[in-house]
Amino acid sequence: MHSHRPTRASFPTRAGRCPRPNRPAPLASERPVTPPRPPLQIDAPTVSETAPPEAAWAPADAVGLYHMGAWGEGYFGVNDAGHVVCRPDPRREGEIDLAAVVDEVVAGGLRLPAVVRFQDLLDTRVRQLNEAFQAAIAEAGYGGAYTGVYPVKVNQLREVVDEIVEAGRPYGFGLECGSKTELVATLPRLESDDTLCLVNGYKDAAMLGLILTFQRLGRRVLPIVEKTAELDQFLALAEAAGQPARFGLRVKLSAVAPGPWTKSGGTLSKFGVSLPEVVDVADRLLATGRADALRLLHFHVGSQIGDVGALKTAVREITRVYAHLTKRGLEIPYLDVGGGLGVNYEALPLGAGRGGVDYSMQEYANAIVYAVGEVCEAEGVAPPHLVSENGRAVTAHHSVLVVDALEQTEKPGVADDFALPADAHPVVRDLDALRASAGGAVGLGELLEVVHDATEAREKAEALFQYGYLDIGPMALAERLYWTVCRAVHARVEAADPDWTPPELEALGDALADQVLCDFSVFQSLMDHWALGQRFPIVPIARLDERPTRRARLVDITCDSDGEVARFVSPEGDKHALEVHDIGGEGGAGRPYRLGVFLVGAYQDILGDAHNLFGGVAEAHVYLDETEPSGYYVEETLPGTTVEQMLARVQYFPSELQTRVQALLREKTKGGVVRPKQAQAILADYRALFDASTYLDASDG
Ligand SMILES: *Cc1c(COP(=O)(O)O)cnc(C)c1O
Repeated sequence: MHSHRPTRASFPTRAGRCPRPNRPAPLASERPVTPPRPPLQIDAPTVSETAPPEAAWAPADAVGLYHMGAWGEGYFGVNDAGHVVCRPDPRREGEIDLAAVVDEVVAGGLRLPAVVRFQDLLDTRVRQLNEAFQAAIAEAGYGGAYTGVYPVKVNQLREVVDEIVEAGRPYGFGLECGSKTELVATLPRLESDDTLCLVNGYKDAAMLGLILTFQRLGRRVLPIVEKTAELDQFLALAEAAGQPARFGLRVKLSAVAPGPWTKSGGTLSKFGVSLPEVVDVADRLLATGRADALRLLHFHVGSQIGDVGALKTAVREITRVYAHLTKRGLEIPYLDVGGGLGVNYEALPLGAGRGGVDYSMQEYANAIVYAVGEVCEAEGVAPPHLVSENGRAVTAHHSVLVVDALEQTEKPGVADDFALPADAHPVVRDLDALRASAGGAVGLGELLEVVHDATEAREKAEALFQYGYLDIGPMALAERLYWTVCRAVHARVEAADPDWTPPELEALGDALADQVLCDFSVFQSLMDHWALGQRFPIVPIARLDERPTRRARLVDITCDSDGEVARFVSPEGDKHALEVHDIGGEGGAGRPYRLGVFLVGAYQDILGDAHNLFGGVAEAHVYLDETEPSGYYVEETLPGTTVEQMLARVQYFPSELQTRVQALLREKTKGGVVRPKQAQAILADYRALFDASTYLDASDG
């Protein structure tokens, strides 16, 4: 060891310490491409020669490594067996072992990928949302009440809506829909005449007519008018039916909440009625003696609000509108602040203030209740009945996508005892020399230099190969040596764990990451990752009692280079590789390795796209049950879409396809290529695939 040890912060920067060796002349022939390395400076600050002993690993360390505390809101953890567990109801002790659930449903014949739904979590989220508003109202001494509605577009699956309706019963929770199809599905599901049902989006005469019919039946259904022409149509239809018209108005506010989904708000938004139009509508209603026709004022600034302050600004603005219209003589019972309550996908600590979602549900409710209360008091009007339309925050946590990891590919390398062939090409020789240097280099500056030289040598090898001066064998060896050098440097940097690492050395970890092939489609199951770059927490669902020793990017089985996950949750910013285990290694040999993608309950189920004709994934619905030895029961499993169902969507049908295969087999039988019996078997094998899952069958091995 060297006698003086550096302080960590004193590691040299590239510019300061380490002059680059002279660059060789441009590529021409088979000359040596790199001059011999100058001797390493031994008085430079050093990185330690040996890695510090690895601290022991406990399942609790996995909770920290994968930031489960922050994004999991206390619902997810790891048990002593190293399995991910869900605690869907904080009031109860029980927890559900996700790995055990998956083993059980797979043993029962369900195919992965599958979405596991923790149904109790829907219940918990609905309750917590209502309790948050009740607490805010009590604390603020707010004079009005609160009713939430669930916007079904966030997840329309019947079981999800059923669960939310049931959980919401004690709170009079309502529903919101935004299209003809959603309206048809939603109207029959209202619990009682008092249940609020809001209809957003553009509506045609048929939809407006149906809404009027349900109003006549006594249901509390309100069309939220998006534009004045729609209002004219609705008022005319009501008049023709001899009914009083009841409706809400979506107001275009000037306030915009920053975030990736902000286009729903602001004066340029495609939605809503402008302020001058609102005034015209009010005047019209008052002039025709319909002061009680406008029941609700609404705005929605967009999903996943990043900044509670911006929400408050919008809330104050709509409350002013409410107050002024009330003073003019309108009787408007409801004020609806839309959705937007965010989910902490990024695992930001509270108060991080980094543009993600770093506020709690309670802070959101407080912001709304206090802002409305203050403006009403200042204006001297009665506080309205508050409504919010939170979808993402209610559904995101309840479902987990579980996928099989099929294969782990490392960057190629050479064995430790690799010996250079005597006739090795000079460029290969250079890389091998760098391999030795990586082991001996003593400072971060030197390590950086090794990486620069290795990169240069690899580029040279590639150029030589391209112009025909290097055979494929030496080229492949050059690539192996290059990655071996990078790996050696990376290991040295990791072991030293300096306070500051040059970005180029930092990036080695990502460059060296494995590729893990997973049996799923990003386009079907993680649409927002592909479309918006949204990150989802991903965690191996078992083996968390074992330290994950590798890092990986995840690739899916679509034939699309975008079909990958290379951005991961981190409170510290960009993260391009996920910590995983050696999936075939000791702890995993022969056992499937499964990853859970969490917080996928909002939007992802429905946005899914049939790219490459991968279909809907299987599902398992799980409930907490302390009377079961396992602590849970699987209420229902649903198989994924079959090949036949996917084909029908694009107008291919089994009979026609089979006829074609039969014709081919007849021809080949006649030509003596196959015997008739073989032809029969081929046809049977082909036909069997119509009923297969669209994903890979990992059990084939
Ligand atoms: C999509 C939508 C919502 C739901 O927003 P979340 O951010 O998911 O809570 C609420 N209201 C309207 C009008 C919407 O379009």
